[in-house]
Amino acid sequence: MCIFCKIVNGEIPNKTLLEDDDFLAFEDINPSRKIHALVIPKQHISSFDVMPPKVMGEMTAFIQKLASKLEIKDSGYRVISNIGEHGGQEVKHLHFHILAGEYVGKLVSN
Ligand code: 5GP
Ligand code: ZN
Repeated sequence: MCIFCKIVNGEIPNKTLLEDDDFLAFEDINPSRKIHALVIPKQHISSFDVMPPKVMGEMTAFIQKLASKLEIKDSGYRVISNIGEHGGQEVKHLHFHILAGEYVGKLVSN
């Protein structure tokens, strides 16, 4: 079982920010910005590249809700998904990085 599936089933603890039946948002263990959340589907999907468009739609609404909860809607934030080897994807369970809390706009950094 992959590391994020273990987070979903509670085998590995996490700092949950928002949760519903289908998605989980939690703090990245090694934050690269003041706010660094990860958003995952509870169902194992290996990457953005194989995500059904319906899931993308539902995740969009979930991320918007997370942004409200984190109070970053006005200041702004960045959403990133790393895909495959050249994309730098380390965990093979679809996730979006939500970066915020300071200026996070440089594409060259994480
Ligand atoms: P990737 O490089 O695959 O896009 O990002 C994986 C992210 O997962 C990294 O930012 C890394 O810090 C985070 N991560 C890896 N293992 C764990 C863990 O056990 N718990 C949490 N909260 N984050 C993790
Ligand atoms: Zn998984």
